Amino acid sequence: MTPEELDRGDPIAAFAARFHRPEGVIYLDGNSLGAMPLQTPARLAKVVSEEWGEGLIRSWNRAGWLEAPLRVGAKLAPLVGARADEVMVCDSTSVNLFKLLASGLRARPGRAVVVTEERNFPTDQYVVQGVAAMPAGCELRVVPREGLEIALDDDVAVLALTHVDYRSGEIHDMVGLTAAAHRAGALALWDLSHSTGAVAVDLTAAGADLAVGCGYKYLNGGPGAPAYVFVAQHLQDALPATIQGWMGHAEPFAFDPDYVPAAGIRRHLAGTPPILGLAALESALDIWAEVDREAVFAKGRALGDYFITLVEDRLHGFDFALASPREGARGSQVALRHEMGYPIMRALVERGVIGDFRSPDILRFGFAPLYTSFADIHAAVEVLIEVMESGAYRLPAYGARVAVT
Ligand SMILES: *Cc1c(COP(=O)(O)O)cnc(C)c1O
Repeated sequence: MTPEELDRGDPIAAFAARFHRPEGVIYLDGNSLGAMPLQTPARLAKVVSEEWGEGLIRSWNRAGWLEAPLRVGAKLAPLVGARADEVMVCDSTSVNLFKLLASGLRARPGRAVVVTEERNFPTDQYVVQGVAAMPAGCELRVVPREGLEIALDDDVAVLALTHVDYRSGEIHDMVGLTAAAHRAGALALWDLSHSTGAVAVDLTAAGADLAVGCGYKYLNGGPGAPAYVFVAQHLQDALPATIQGWMGHAEPFAFDPDYVPAAGIRRHLAGTPPILGLAALESALDIWAEVDREAVFAKGRALGDYFITLVEDRLHGFDFALASPREGARGSQVALRHEMGYPIMRALVERGVIGDFRSPDILRFGFAPLYTSFADIHAAVEVLIEVMESGAYRLPAYGARVAVT
């Protein structure tokens, strides 16, 4: 089928018009920073001028600022198969990982081991290493992907994994691994940064205990958007808060000198929520509320399949190797390996095809289903063919590293 035919058959094609799409750009990096919803600038302007400018401190009550972390969390919850009161938007993913890891360790006294995978996202590795170095500490067990189940014994407090691998897009069996963690008496903590808004996630069906994830990738909450925490309902009152801030107190405005945790997930709110960031994320989630999620996830898969087919048909002989699953479960992204990966991606970006590069040799293409078309993918592959056939990527300028790849 032609890309035009594929786009005509796409039930969610109209959503692309809800996003700003810069002239001359094919954006295949929505898994790193999502595109800007067209409705967001006006929403932010209103929050700034009316709620902050006019309302001032009254807006904590009148404009719903105080409840924003829970309200926006409730809007996010359906995307991860959670109940409305199981998700709260706050802090960054890294901070939330730290909070829930440390809380999870405290909820499993007598157990000191955290199991994770050697190819986990760097921040996930660093945060566990930091927890291990703290006075109360933990013991780290970093194992290969295939060795996770056998690493789970009765010393393990938390199994901490990223659901969709940030490079390859491989997907862990959340149901099976959560069950294995539970059989060992451990909690399962999932990082959903590369999953939410890209693939189906059902934390409830998986029986997951804890999760964190990112607001600025497929969710389109804006650069540095606040992240979120998930704590399963049945655990909420037993799980202590790591950062005992006043906003997580049962009665913040009683100014009690002693800490009493708020009921439910709110205790994990450390400090005053970032209202502007929350407003941008809420604006993006209002688009998510309108879309058929199953159609989104099916399209993400189809876009990736289409890209792989084009690369295999049109670029054999140029030494690309597929670094993502072809048939098996895969996120809404495809990774290609090439020893000249860095200059090739620079040449693509210079031509308006924006993907990214992940060390040491991976060209990563993300297909945010809400605003990426089959025609975009076809056009991007045409540019990649031009870059390879002309040898343009060999220009010395493309070899010099920039700070953000
Ligand atoms: C993007 C990403 C993060 C981001 O963490 P920040 O604290 O927002 O910088 C964390 N974990 C994974 C798996 C990610 O893909």
